[in-house]
Amino acid sequence: MFSLEEIVDKICEHTTMSQKKVQKLIEEKEDELSGLVSKEGAAYIVARELGISLLRESKKQLKVKSLTEGLNSVDIVARVVRISEPRSFDKDGRKGSVLGLILGDETGTVRLSLWNEELDIIADLGLKDGDVVKITHGYVKMDNRGNLDLRVGRGRLEKVDEEVKLPEAHGIRSSFESPRRKLLSDIKEGDAVEIRACLVQVFKRNPFFEVCPSCGARLRNKEGKWMCDEHGEVKPDYQMVISGVLDDGYGNVRVTFFRELAERLFGKTAKELRALAQEKLDPMAVYETADLLGKDFIITGRVKKNEMTENLEMIANSFEGIDVKKEFEVLASELAAD
Ligand SMILES: [Zn+2]
Repeated sequence: MFSLEEIVDKICEHTTMSQKKVQKLIEEKEDELSGLVSKEGAAYIVARELGISLLRESKKQLKVKSLTEGLNSVDIVARVVRISEPRSFDKDGRKGSVLGLILGDETGTVRLSLWNEELDIIADLGLKDGDVVKITHGYVKMDNRGNLDLRVGRGRLEKVDEEVKLPEAHGIRSSFESPRRKLLSDIKEGDAVEIRACLVQVFKRNPFFEVCPSCGARLRNKEGKWMCDEHGEVKPDYQMVISGVLDDGYGNVRVTFFRELAERLFGKTAKELRALAQEKLDPMAVYETADLLGKDFIITGRVKKNEMTENLEMIANSFEGIDVKKEFEVLASELAAD
């Protein structure tokens, strides 16, 4: 289903008529049918009468699961599962506000963030939990925590009032939002899980990657220059990504810790570790600064399928270290006190 503006645009593209002229035709058609059809309906009829097929140009809508970083021109219909409170920020003198909407369908959930004047959309459309929205020409970025972030940008966000086949918000929440404690032998693609496992291997690769100092987005290298999609060529900041293997005795899975989570693993900031790597002239020196192997963690995260290897992997959202020795000492002292 196209929006009214899209249909008007299409008609203008295919004819020599002005927007105004097309709108007038649509209004006339609406009057002619005396309220039997919506404005969009009237616009469809006008387009058809002009021999413009709107169906042929309609693009396949994506499902949440198929969203990936860097995707442009995303058309998707999804249900609003949760709307967060707007948050103000003041970053390097740039003031603004941001708000996250969690959208979902039967395949998963994704955050859509609205920035600054985009926040008005919520009030303008009267959006609330459970509503269905349609995003046209959106794009997908990776946020600071390594999660996908859908953006409207120059695209459009609309409320869909027609009946749409999508699971209810509470169903989506219970399937994808609340992590459930699982064994590694039981995890599936798309699960949000909590597991207790031991880090049995750390892949020793260059842990640093380049990010935009203004917005934190991962940068692309274009002919030796570091480019941000929003801010153009920039002098990069650095963030870290650490990968390894978790094992809980029932199974194992590759795990990735991005950004603050990677910093917390080492107990140092990316900046400090980058300085150390530069001093030692070796990014691998970072791995000497912490003894990560053999530690137990409670980790929450999302299970994905690696597109190259087809193996499952977990993107950590949070973790807690478990000090086994301390747990044992506490237990021992409690026993002694009895
Ligand atoms: Zn940027």
